[in-house]
Amino acid sequence: MPSLNDIRSTFLNYFAKQGHEVVDSSPLVPRNDPTLMFTNSGMVQFKNCFTGVDRRDYVRATTAQKCVRAGGKHNDLDNVGYTARHHTFFEMLGNFSFGDYFKNEAIPFAWELITGEFDIPKDKLYTTVYHTDDEAFEIWKKVGVPEERIIRIATSDNFWQMGDTGPCGPCTEIFYDHGDHIWGGPPGSPEEDGDRFIEIWNLVFMQNERFADGSMVDLDMQSIDTGMGLERIAALLQGTHDNYETDLFKYLIEASATVTKSEPYGDQNVHHRVIADHLRSCSFLIAEGVLPSNEGRGYVLRRIMRRAMRHASLLGATDPVMHKLVPALVSQMGAAYPELGQGQALIEETFEQEETRFLKTLDRGLKLLDDASGDLEKGDVLPGETAFKLYDTFGFPLDLTQDALRAKGIEVDTDGFDAAMKAQKEQSRAGGLGLDASRMDAKTYFDIVDEFGPTEFLGYETETAEGQ
Ligand code: ATP
Ligand code: MG
Ligand code: MG
Ligand code: MG
Repeated sequence: MPSLNDIRSTFLNYFAKQGHEVVDSSPLVPRNDPTLMFTNSGMVQFKNCFTGVDRRDYVRATTAQKCVRAGGKHNDLDNVGYTARHHTFFEMLGNFSFGDYFKNEAIPFAWELITGEFDIPKDKLYTTVYHTDDEAFEIWKKVGVPEERIIRIATSDNFWQMGDTGPCGPCTEIFYDHGDHIWGGPPGSPEEDGDRFIEIWNLVFMQNERFADGSMVDLDMQSIDTGMGLERIAALLQGTHDNYETDLFKYLIEASATVTKSEPYGDQNVHHRVIADHLRSCSFLIAEGVLPSNEGRGYVLRRIMRRAMRHASLLGATDPVMHKLVPALVSQMGAAYPELGQGQALIEETFEQEETRFLKTLDRGLKLLDDASGDLEKGDVLPGETAFKLYDTFGFPLDLTQDALRAKGIEVDTDGFDAAMKAQKEQSRAGGLGLDASRMDAKTYFDIVDEFGPTEFLGYETETAEGQ
C-alpha cells in the first residue's frame, strides 16, 4: 500500500518525466499577494505567470503545495470533524502550463496518471465539465470516459477562482465513487455533499482574469492549473474513502489518544480528527512565524488552536496536550518539510503557552455556555450577547462557540454578536482614550475589514480580550 510520501513522489516524478520543472512548495503566507490570507492552492505562487507579468525559465511546472483553507473564499474550518475529505491544512499536488499545453494534453495526462500509474479502476470514475465547455466534454470522451459519466455543471463549482480577483477559468473535475455503503450522490445531484463521490482532482483552464470591480477579461495566454488533494488520493489508494483513515492520520490519531489517555476510535474519534487536523495547520503556520494574536492571520491561527484545545478538553485533558503531539507530526512529515523540524521548539512552546493561557478560562466559559444553552433545543438560537461575552471575557472565538453548539443543532445570532462587538468598540472610543494603543488597534482592525470584508476574521484587540 503506497504511503502519503510514496504518492507525492509518484506524482512529481510522473510530471517531471513529461517535461515539468519540480518546484518547491511556496510558503503558506503568500509573498506575492496581500489580499490573500493563506496560500489556498498550488497556483498561488504562479499567479502572475498566468497573466504574463512573471516569466520563469520553464513553461511547465509541478508541485506539492502546502495549503491552508481556514478563511476567505476557501474556508474548510467548519468542515473538519464533519466530512471525511476536508482539512484545514492539506497538500495539493499540481501540474501547471504557462501558455504551453492546454486542454488537449492536460486531460490525457491526468487520465493516464490515475488510471495508469495509480491503476484506479475506470468504472469508478466520473468527470464534470463547465456546462458550456463542449471541447473538454469531447476530450474526455476521446480518452475513453463514457458520455453518461461526463456531467455538465453550470455552477461556480466548475468555474475556479482563487479569490475575488485574479486569474480564473472554467474547470473539469474528476470524482471517485467509493460505493453505495457511503451516503452521497454524484456531482450536480442533491446529495453531492456526501462523501460517496469524492472530488479528487480539479483541472482549471486558466483563460480569464477577474478584477476588483467584478469585470472579467480573456487572458492572452491559455494555461493549465491543476490541483489534486494528496490526502484524498492517498485515502483512495489505501482502500478507504476517509482521509482520516490514511497512514499519517491514523498515526496522529493514535498519538492524540495516547496523550489524552482516551480511546482512539468510537465516539471519541471525532475529537481526535479535529486535533490531528488542527495540529498540522497550526504547526505549519507557526513554523513560518505566524503566532497567535488577536488580529489578522494570528487570529485565524488562534481560532484553530483553541478549537483543537476545546476538543482535547472534551476528551478529558486538563493540562496542555497539543505540544506533546508535535514530535509525532515531525516524525511523519519532517523529511518532506524540514521547516517542521527546524521550528519544532517554537511550535511546542507556542502551543504550550496558548493552551496554558486558554485553559485558565476554558472551563468557566464552557460552564457559561452550558448554562446559557441548557434550555435551548434544536433549531434555537443562542443570543449574540452571550457569544460576545464568551469571546470577550473567556477568549472563545465565535466559531468555537458555533462548533460547540452545532451537534445540538443550535445556532448563534451572529448579527447580535457583531452588534455587541461594535457597541463595545464605540464605548471604548467614547471613553476618550485618545491616541493610545487601543485606538490604534481599532484602526488596524478597520483597515483589515476594508481589505478582507467583515466576516473574514474578527480582529478586535480589546483590553479585556487581551491576556486570555
Ligand atoms: P470540495 O468540493 O470537495 O470542497 P474543492 O472543489 O473546494 O473541493 P478545489 O478548490 O478544486 O477543491 O481544490 C483542488 C483539490 O484539492 C480538490 O479536488 C481536492 O482534491 C483537494 N482539496 C480541496 N479542499 C481540500 C481540503 N479542505 N482538504 C483536503 N483536500 C482538499
Ligand atoms: Mg471546497
Ligand atoms: Mg468541489
Ligand atoms: Mg474543485
